[in-house]
Amino acid sequence: MNVAAILTINAGSSSLKFAAYAVGDAPQELARGQVERLGPAASLTVHAKGASAEREEIGQADHAQALRAILDHLGPLLHGRRVAGVGHRVVHGGPDFAAPLRLDAAAITELSQFEPLAPLHQPYNLAGVRAARAAFPDALQLACFDTAFHRDHAWEHDTFALPRRYYDMGIRRYGFHGLSYEFIAGELAGRFPDLEKGRAIVAHLGNGASMCALRGGRSLSSTMGFTALDGLAMGTRCGQIDPGVLLYLMQNEGMSTDDLTRLLYRESGLKGLSGFSHDMRRLLQSDMPEAAQAVRYYVTRIRHEIGALTADLGGLDALVFTAGVGENSDVIRAMACDGMGWLGLSLDRQANADGATEIGAGPVRVLVIPTDEERVIARAVADALN
Ligand code: ADP
Repeated sequence: MNVAAILTINAGSSSLKFAAYAVGDAPQELARGQVERLGPAASLTVHAKGASAEREEIGQADHAQALRAILDHLGPLLHGRRVAGVGHRVVHGGPDFAAPLRLDAAAITELSQFEPLAPLHQPYNLAGVRAARAAFPDALQLACFDTAFHRDHAWEHDTFALPRRYYDMGIRRYGFHGLSYEFIAGELAGRFPDLEKGRAIVAHLGNGASMCALRGGRSLSSTMGFTALDGLAMGTRCGQIDPGVLLYLMQNEGMSTDDLTRLLYRESGLKGLSGFSHDMRRLLQSDMPEAAQAVRYYVTRIRHEIGALTADLGGLDALVFTAGVGENSDVIRAMACDGMGWLGLSLDRQANADGATEIGAGPVRVLVIPTDEERVIARAVADALN
């Protein structure tokens, strides 16, 4: 028996998600879970494979304490296996990292320079790295980047129309959610081989949301840009905005960088438009007209990007929905595809309502595929350990 285990850590601003795998030919999942509501009243959920999830209130927890709470519960689930590698989701890898990176003190310092580019994620991702290095000083620590999957975009999909020196400074369209897109590209190759070489759009619709045009399993273009603010409206992020709005707010409303950061990252999107929630489930259940308008805006952006990404691809063979909203909301999927017959895109209403994997009724295949970013990280760690 192989006696090694892999841990994956996805540390966000208010949660720390984890998964544990036994090292084998392919990583075998042992358990997954998360600490939610980091701060004075955190709770831990642990879901061992084949068992039901267990939840516990753990009180005060920062990232290090959350990891400690996870490890306290994980011991029995590892069945004596030693943690040989820890894989970290790190949102921003900047212009140079197109592959996973072994983490030492110098690498952590290098990655911390991208904190201003992903303030909702990068500082917390690196806090998770520091906590894991302290807990497992002998284990391999590996960063897996959300930007890496998009690093071979053609120049015209990688740049803004600014003077060229800004591109050289690293002001580029990085694209994010790359771990999710890598997983979906792998699923298409493995489960839908006729689509592997085709033209697909993947809609990753979670709290953060973006869409990616895949050609032959590689990222051609993405709705996200320099930061994870661009493109679709999200739970609390604005998505696409005319930069003139920011100039106006600075000049005429006296807003500072901090004010704008808070506005664009935490107070906008579904939360800002509805006035009460970032949570799609709550908006869909609400009778308030503002909730319906927020949903309408959200869907309008998705439809807009379906058109734009199809143009990038020169046609469309498949549309894939994934992440919290994409996997679970037949209503949003139906709104996104409504009246898109001109593109060959229409839904089988029953299959959509039933949550089937194949929900298309036209020439363009429409798929619902649950994403698994943890598994992509675990595979990368397994490869590095080998
Ligand atoms: P994260 O980006 O934090 O990983 P998730 O992928 O878990 O987010 O997605 C969270 C979003 O999914 C929330 O807005 C939540 O309301 C939404 N969601 C989950 N289930 C449903 C559902 N059945 N219907 C509509 N939205 C849902």
